[in-house]
Amino acid sequence: MGYNADNMEKSKEHKFAEVAVNLPLDRVFHYSIPSGLKKDAEIGKRVYVPFRDKQKVGYITGFSDTCDVAKAKPIDSIIDEKPILSSHMLKLTKWISETYLCSWGQAISAAIPGVLKKGKVSVKPRSAKTAKVTLPQATKPLKLTSEQERVMESVLHKIEQEDYKTFVLHGITSSGKTEIYLQAIERVLSKGKTSIVLVPEIALTPQTVERFAGRFGDRVAVLHSGLIGSMRYSEWKRIKDGTARVVVGARSAIFSPVNNLGLIVIDEEHETSYKQDDAPRYHARDVALMRAKLSNCPVILGSATPSLESFYMAKKEHLELVRLTKRIDDRSLPKVKIVDMRMELATRKRIVMFSQVLLDAIERTLREKKQAMIFLNRRGFSTYISCKKCGLVLKCKKCDSVLVYHYKGKSLVCHYCNFRTAPPEICPQCRASYMKYFGVGTEKVESELARFFPGARIARMDTDTTKKRGSHEEILGEFRKHNIDILVGTQMIAKGHDFPRVTLVGVVNADVTLNLPDFRASERTFNLLAQVAGRAGRGEDGGEVIIQTYAPGHYSLLAASKHDYEKFYAEEIKTRKDLFFPPFCHIIKLTVRSRSEQSAVDASQNLRRFLEQKFSAKDKEAVKIVGPAPSPVSKIRGYYRWNVLLKGKNRSIACEAAKKALINYRKPIGVFLAVDVDPISM
Ligand code: ADP
Ligand code: ZN
Repeated sequence: MGYNADNMEKSKEHKFAEVAVNLPLDRVFHYSIPSGLKKDAEIGKRVYVPFRDKQKVGYITGFSDTCDVAKAKPIDSIIDEKPILSSHMLKLTKWISETYLCSWGQAISAAIPGVLKKGKVSVKPRSAKTAKVTLPQATKPLKLTSEQERVMESVLHKIEQEDYKTFVLHGITSSGKTEIYLQAIERVLSKGKTSIVLVPEIALTPQTVERFAGRFGDRVAVLHSGLIGSMRYSEWKRIKDGTARVVVGARSAIFSPVNNLGLIVIDEEHETSYKQDDAPRYHARDVALMRAKLSNCPVILGSATPSLESFYMAKKEHLELVRLTKRIDDRSLPKVKIVDMRMELATRKRIVMFSQVLLDAIERTLREKKQAMIFLNRRGFSTYISCKKCGLVLKCKKCDSVLVYHYKGKSLVCHYCNFRTAPPEICPQCRASYMKYFGVGTEKVESELARFFPGARIARMDTDTTKKRGSHEEILGEFRKHNIDILVGTQMIAKGHDFPRVTLVGVVNADVTLNLPDFRASERTFNLLAQVAGRAGRGEDGGEVIIQTYAPGHYSLLAASKHDYEKFYAEEIKTRKDLFFPPFCHIIKLTVRSRSEQSAVDASQNLRRFLEQKFSAKDKEAVKIVGPAPSPVSKIRGYYRWNVLLKGKNRSIACEAAKKALINYRKPIGVFLAVDVDPISM
């Protein structure tokens, strides 16, 4: 019984097929196999099955001679001629279902192209070569520096051995990490094997993607998030049949159906976009490690600012730490100046957006015909509006969040549910006409810069200016051509772009991320600052970074100003240990939500009591129950949200305990429960 993954078994004389479906039901379902379908039924194929009066797509995961219902219904039909899921893929998705507490069917559905989830594919195969990635001239491997050489040796050793190993490649920006990926992949290809490269977001890393395309030509498949369904499917087929041997893509590319995997690379491994935020809530980094173990191949986790989790594991020698400490050509890292905005407030007697230091630096940059990037991780114009008489702050009716004023469209917008409304001229509470606008977003930064520097060509890049397909590339392209002098933006501009003429990076307010109600706030801040700082001085002219803050003594900022990851790590890891947060524990976040506040509160309290009852003494020793407490955003889209956290040193023990208990949990009517293992935010 069960599936025998090493030998993709056919049904032969088995009576029943075990079928997983894309529903949050943690079990497989038994269906009888009509005699006409016996010879085609095979593990890894999709089938149509009757399910609660409907027909659904399911995946055959095994066969059995016994059945757990009195009368099994028969399979309607078999969709695939050949299995779409390899035995590796079945093992991997099974592991995901156990680790992230979702069903096997949900995990499988996350691992295949959308069109395959829906059933029979009738799309005409189309060439996926859109205009997006024009193949540049093939580029030759560079002669490695001695530092690169040393890293390369370790990696190649494992590639040759065909052995699992995870390398944490800690290398400052521009230290030659990408060149290492490229040459390692070259070796993998020469062995007739394949590679997967994950990048945080394709649209934001066009240069990186181009380098892969340039080196490997049409052996590369680039999985854009912008690819429409049929194109994604034809790329998937090109990968499955072995035409494409290097896959570059975002999070879900980790499920690419490559055979004979020889290497996985995760660039910017600390990026939060590797975590999927709805079920299955997997982390592509952890999935990668598991996939590499199944394939006996190495993984490279590259970053200038490794996640605390990865660096901790590397320090403990569970992963292997390799380092690149110098920028190529020994260019020095830019000088970073921290500007204490409290002093600015004291001397100028008012809150200002730009310190004199920053204004002077922008002025100088423009005079010297160089470029500047001005960073603020908050979009919109004003961050809130409020009545000067009664103090009312305008909030979203459906969310526990303040409405942000956007100049474009002249509207108040909720950043959680996208609700829009015209800003009132008189206060809806006291009818006074004293509505005042507070706070600063990127839109306002852009408009203020235009006021200060009327001659400058200024553009903005954030979610609001990049809704159209291809708009990222357009803005970045214009900036590269120096048709833009100052680029204003959110974290979108922090990613790995290489603009040699950028000599100044200004951070308008570093405190935005620092003040987030999240145990990773300091880490996010350090990462972002290190990344934006890395944008300055990539060319001959050196660079300068100016960080404005009201918390100039914070270790995240101090360490970032010295480009000192180890210093930051040393401080942060102490806090994590003291407060028993990751990497010292794994968290399982249980979020209860309901339209009624009382039901949400009651249900979360009951959930805690329920867990206490169900947990054995041993479970209680291994897993700590924390809460309930309201989510940091306590209401979204009309749902009140309360969290119960489980914290345990060992993930599989914690998952096992949670699963065992939750299987018997009955949600009250109108209450929903979301389970998030290793959540990325609270
Ligand atoms: P990172 O990925 O760490 O930011 P890159 O691999 O992009 O670094 O390297 C930074 C720049 O240096 C790139 O323009 C790259 O082509 C160049 N480079 C990398 N390695 C070498 C080398 N061994 N010799 C000469 N140039 C190199
Ligand atoms: Zn809202």
